[in-house]
Amino acid sequence: MSYSRLFFLGAALSLCGCQSNPKGVARQPHFLDLSGTDTTVRAGTNFFSYANGNWVKHTEIPPSKTGWGSFYIVYDHSLYDLRSILDSCASLKNPAKGSPAQQIGDLYASAMDSVAIEKAGIMPLQSDLDRVAGITNPAGVLDEVTYEYAHGGGTLFSFYGSPDDKNSGWQMAHFDQGGLGLPNRDYYFKTDSNSRAIREAYQNYIAKLFVLSGSDSATADRKASTILALETNLAKASKNEVELRDPQANYHKLTLPALDKTTPGINWQDLTSRLTLHVDTILVGQPEFYHALASLLRSTPVATWKDYLQFHLISDMAPYLSSLFVNAHFDFYSRLLSGQKAQEIRWKRMTGLVDGSLGDALGRLYVERYFPPAARRRMIDLVNNLQATYKERIAGLDWMSDSTKHKAIDKLEAFTKKIGYPDKWKDYSSIDITRTNLIRNLENIGLWNFQYEMNKIGKPVDRSEWGMTPPTVNAYYNPQFNEIVFPAGILQPPFFFQDADDAVNYGAIGAVIGHEMTHGFDDQGSQYDKDGNLKNWWTPEDRKKFEQKANLVVAQYDSSVVLDSIHINGKLTEGENIADVGGLAIAYAAFRKTPEGKSGEKINGLTPDQRFFLSFAQIWRIKRTDKNLLLGINTDPHSPEMYRVDNPVSNLVAFYNAFGVKPGDREYRPDSTRVHIW
Ligand SMILES: [Zn+2]
Repeated sequence: MSYSRLFFLGAALSLCGCQSNPKGVARQPHFLDLSGTDTTVRAGTNFFSYANGNWVKHTEIPPSKTGWGSFYIVYDHSLYDLRSILDSCASLKNPAKGSPAQQIGDLYASAMDSVAIEKAGIMPLQSDLDRVAGITNPAGVLDEVTYEYAHGGGTLFSFYGSPDDKNSGWQMAHFDQGGLGLPNRDYYFKTDSNSRAIREAYQNYIAKLFVLSGSDSATADRKASTILALETNLAKASKNEVELRDPQANYHKLTLPALDKTTPGINWQDLTSRLTLHVDTILVGQPEFYHALASLLRSTPVATWKDYLQFHLISDMAPYLSSLFVNAHFDFYSRLLSGQKAQEIRWKRMTGLVDGSLGDALGRLYVERYFPPAARRRMIDLVNNLQATYKERIAGLDWMSDSTKHKAIDKLEAFTKKIGYPDKWKDYSSIDITRTNLIRNLENIGLWNFQYEMNKIGKPVDRSEWGMTPPTVNAYYNPQFNEIVFPAGILQPPFFFQDADDAVNYGAIGAVIGHEMTHGFDDQGSQYDKDGNLKNWWTPEDRKKFEQKANLVVAQYDSSVVLDSIHINGKLTEGENIADVGGLAIAYAAFRKTPEGKSGEKINGLTPDQRFFLSFAQIWRIKRTDKNLLLGINTDPHSPEMYRVDNPVSNLVAFYNAFGVKPGDREYRPDSTRVHIW
């Protein structure tokens, strides 16, 4: 499982961008954009619409986007900043080989060389496809998958290095379920017409890639049908998103001989040594998946495996091949699944690629140019204020015993705080990057990343590492490091303002900070102790009370409906919702301690509390395509934005008082259904 608990769905952001210069949109001089509110709607009827309705009415999602609004706009703005760095690096005469400027400049130049990329077609992958064509037996299938992992790719299962959940200071090899081309296992089995249409389009996409690679259409269709059937079998053995959220149920420390016994045909000693691992114990998230995989390796013809491997090789690299491959990939994954109407302009896609590939090289130049040191200092103050308030809140909880309170406060005080950018940067200097071959560059980067990750396994964990690049407009809590992390990218309006009044900052970045802190105490994070170990620190009675309260959160979101009749999955979104509800409550309590929070003095006709809640609603000022909303309901642990506003505020009396919300209003909850956990 991925370790971090994000603030916002990162994957959606990689699709961001817009051709008009958005700088004027992102930098809002008045802190609160009151022109976006809709005062024809009462706050008590629909607070999201009250705060954002006019903006929603007058905003069109750009065709090259799956959504538009706060995060999207800030990220798009950052892309312009990143491009100016990349342009200047790419135009350097004779930069030192292996320097950050040479590497990001040349990677970007190779990615922008669409003439060479068009001319090459499928050729950059031909030797990989030939290697797969030479496989003769099931052992050869696994040899190929390990070869791909060792070169920065990999399919069929999920392999990565990460701390041991029960010994968080030690880095381990993890093997999880994987190998699917659709967003998750449920997409293979749902019988509604939309899901059936997605499967049909997926099969057509598979066939299309084979045709583009030289197959005749009858052969391509046959391959597509057997690949979909094979993936359906992998999906049958896979857990769903909710089952994957249980850290205890997905933790299995196993020796290689023990695994050999349950997965006949898979030689784990051989498999791990091909991955350059020298360990006798690994962590397997879902042993039943590997049991089924072993059986499928025995029963499925080798020819089908070869087709499967070739398809995934092409599909994974399609965004970086010639335009026919780019377009086929876009048509399925972006247009059909996410509702994006047009391809993003090339420089934005490739700027995102450089950020994702050589993040520390680009990131260090980005923070030098665009991240003011004063922002870091202001942020540290805010985080410390929130942490102090959190401590008081825990001490004052009426439902928790003193012994659990002590442990919770110990955990809170042990948080590591990372703000802006890492203390040390990765040294990529040994990676060979040239201006002439994008795919080769990506392979070299993949190889370096693999060796970097393998070198950490079986050793003490380096807790200084970051899981996001500095320009990322997001934040996370990592339970294994017990840390909260805020990249420079999110320390910009409308999340963070250097000069705004406290109501605006506490309602925005304050709620983000509170959200990440609360992840340490959500249904998953609360199972990890202050040292990042998956180890119970609760009394049984307190745990039971916590779960009862968490179930109220699940019920609140289960009853929330989008797109006329589709309910949020309260269990899938439980952790994020607890973080949203708790984060807002903590941010509000911390705000009340500031001079503005105590004063009651109006600014622009708004009370401090009104400004606080409007600022909170403004960070969620986002519009998505219907398809992107639906994809999120099925896959994203975060709730849709309108409910990330309406549900948290509806649990706070302060919100009722600020906007005159009364019994009978849609946003009004009777006391018995309000949730106060933290
Ligand atoms: Zn989160």
